[in-house]
Amino acid sequence: MSYLFLFLAVVVGYVVALFLKKRELRNMEVFLAFSGAFLLSITVFELLPHVFETPSKSIGVYIMLGILLQIFLEFFSKGAEHGHVHLHSETKHFPWILFVSLSIHAFMEGFPISEDNNLLLAIIIHKIPVAIILSFFFITAGYKRITTLLFLFFFAIMTPLGSFISLNYSIVHQYETEISALVIGIFLHVSTTILFESSKNHKFNLPKMTAVLVAVFLAYFL
Ligand SMILES: [Zn+2]
Ligand SMILES: [Zn+2]
Repeated sequence: MSYLFLFLAVVVGYVVALFLKKRELRNMEVFLAFSGAFLLSITVFELLPHVFETPSKSIGVYIMLGILLQIFLEFFSKGAEHGHVHLHSETKHFPWILFVSLSIHAFMEGFPISEDNNLLLAIIIHKIPVAIILSFFFITAGYKRITTLLFLFFFAIMTPLGSFISLNYSIVHQYETEISALVIGIFLHVSTTILFESSKNHKFNLPKMTAVLVAVFLAYFL
């Protein structure tokens, strides 16, 4: 069931993008700020305490590796996982580099999803604005519909696939803490980047700030 919701988050994103007008893309930033704050809160409130049940420096190393991995992936994705798309392709071929980097990110984020945390909800909320912006880019850049749909389909199955593997393969289960720590690093980087970019030039923006505060409160009381 949770796999279906993760998949549907991308479907919803595509459908919204079909009807979205360029000037309405601004409203996405408030939603994006909310999603980033919510993901960060779930990471800090739920995932972090879990991996530090037995404190050790090596867990910290995995978190740091996750942060570095995400920085590395964004050299290729140009920040698509936090709602940025800059692709300058005249040829309109399938954007493999974007696809691979985005898929690694999406695949990894499926791993720590479990019934003991609210990560499923956080990832769905994180995925919807990303899928909207990504789809919007594909549509307005004039990619063929089949290219767009293939891209989004495979992107959409990555997180459920990661989650499925982590739940069904005992070898992965053995390294649960290490993998979670790595993904925490990914989440820390992505979510703080969203928050950073949502306060452009450090200017105060009431709707975005409100969205951030509401997200933190909600995540705390879940
Ligand atoms: Zn960015
Ligand atoms: Zn993500």
